[in-house]
Amino acid sequence: MSIHKTEAVVIKTQPFRSSSLIVTFFTPQLGKIRGVVKGVHREGEVRQAGFEIFTHAEFVFYEKKRSDLHLISDTAILESRHAIRNRLDTIAYGSYFCELADELTEVHDPHPEIFHLLQSGFHFLSVIPPARLALLFEIKLLREMGWLPYLESCFSCGAKPLEQGYFSVRQGALICEKCRGQEPGAQPVGAPVLAVFRAYGKDALEDCLRVSHSSVIENQIRFLITQFLNFRLGKVLKSRKFLEAIKPILNH
Ligand SMILES: [Zn+2]
Repeated sequence: MSIHKTEAVVIKTQPFRSSSLIVTFFTPQLGKIRGVVKGVHREGEVRQAGFEIFTHAEFVFYEKKRSDLHLISDTAILESRHAIRNRLDTIAYGSYFCELADELTEVHDPHPEIFHLLQSGFHFLSVIPPARLALLFEIKLLREMGWLPYLESCFSCGAKPLEQGYFSVRQGALICEKCRGQEPGAQPVGAPVLAVFRAYGKDALEDCLRVSHSSVIENQIRFLITQFLNFRLGKVLKSRKFLEAIKPILNH
């Protein structure tokens, strides 16, 4: 076994046997890690606090060579992110960020950008309308994993530049007017929507947040991204279903 000391954010916590937890945390250099914390209940609330979802902490863990489930021996909280856990909307969106990052990544696959994206997502949750933040979070995560829809030219004939076109959820790409017949389900994307969609795919999160766009444009991009994600994941995430269920009582 080798020992590691690393900062990380907690993206999932599950009870394990009578007094232990399985904690999934995302690190800057080692990617996603899963580990067991033993004896959390015996030592009370203080020990468990470092393992709550959204927490930014320093972890010490022993890496097991024959298992993806390692042994967490110590943690020191850097940011508890207590405020996120105090509001229904931030809990719901924060949980969605965590589940989406968990679903799209494998363990031990380093993605420093995803660590920073999670950190930014949690930081901006109390500042930016969360529905807007969630759309950008989805797009940035897709880009980092190489799943971002291809919007530069027609995926079939290569025609470019395309100022508008049709979006194929199945292909995760744009198609031109001439080739549209090949993808009967492709949905029209007008020039203003396409321009913002492209910018969101390229620009840094902070730059995207500085520019506001009409909710009509963002809603159309959200509609396409949601369909694309559901298609690629082959399911609707639990946290996403929860978000949809509580939307009527949220003001966003
Ligand atoms: Zn074409």
